[in-house]
Amino acid sequence: MKILYTINELKTYKKSIKTQTLGFVPTMGALHEGHLSLIKKSKSENEKTIVSIYVNPTQFLENEDFSKYPKKIEADLKLCELLGVDGVFLPDTKEMYFENDTKILPPLNKSYILEGFNRPKHFDGVLSVVLKLFNLVKPDNAYFGKKDAQQLYLIKNMVKNLFLDIKINPCEIIRDKDGLALSSRNVYLSSDERQNALKLSSSLFFAAKEIMRENFDANNIKEKMQEILNPLQIGYVEIVNLEFEKLEKIELKNTIILVAAYVGSTRLIDNIWI
Ligand code: AMP
Repeated sequence: MKILYTINELKTYKKSIKTQTLGFVPTMGALHEGHLSLIKKSKSENEKTIVSIYVNPTQFLENEDFSKYPKKIEADLKLCELLGVDGVFLPDTKEMYFENDTKILPPLNKSYILEGFNRPKHFDGVLSVVLKLFNLVKPDNAYFGKKDAQQLYLIKNMVKNLFLDIKINPCEIIRDKDGLALSSRNVYLSSDERQNALKLSSSLFFAAKEIMRENFDANNIKEKMQEILNPLQIGYVEIVNLEFEKLEKIELKNTIILVAAYVGSTRLIDNIWI
């Protein structure tokens, strides 16, 4: 496995591999089974797989956890090696960004709602770094988790709008046995908080059951979800279609139920696709 610290090293490596299909898994590290499922999918569908590990400063708001975001680079590299990753790109902010940099601006009506309403400019930062990474790695396939549903939507939209020749492959959400969606931020949770964090997935499983028993009233379901989430501080509870338009009346397909909430000082997100 090649560890690529600089853009030049990445470019040289890219020239040295003559591959039919290159898969790419961008991450911020502190890898868990969720990330590993993306890597495994890429490995199974491509001749070569590159993983990037980069905590991108531009997607964090000033009051967020950028400086204390979990870092486990040694363990991450071991996991990548075990899974047979071909190259790991560990770029440096000095190389990734420029003074007076060009930024990507996703459509405001899709990127300043939900996550973007709670975290303005977050998706500007996400798309800017993802486009830089795409241009450097030039993959055929890129793998993203449904866990970050709005991010996945906006990246797909960017790829379409900018005519990028990259297939975006959505991957299922990986959960712990008790239902908690895996997240690098779960390490912040105390054991009591971890119990409370289960309210997110419980509220989503409840909503899915309601829909299965033909309660299609989005407002009614959202109210009941808020009761389940109580007393957590809720960021949002929303039900949207695949275009991220809010639904009043739910359908039995193309529906995403999303939740964001603080457990103590840790902000968690989760969702379920119907
Ligand atoms: P991150 O390191 O948080 O930026 O995540 C890197 C990629 O892993 C993103 O595409 C996430 O959506 C995906 N991911 C994170 N957690 C999970 C999970 N529990 N299940 C599936 N994919 C995930």
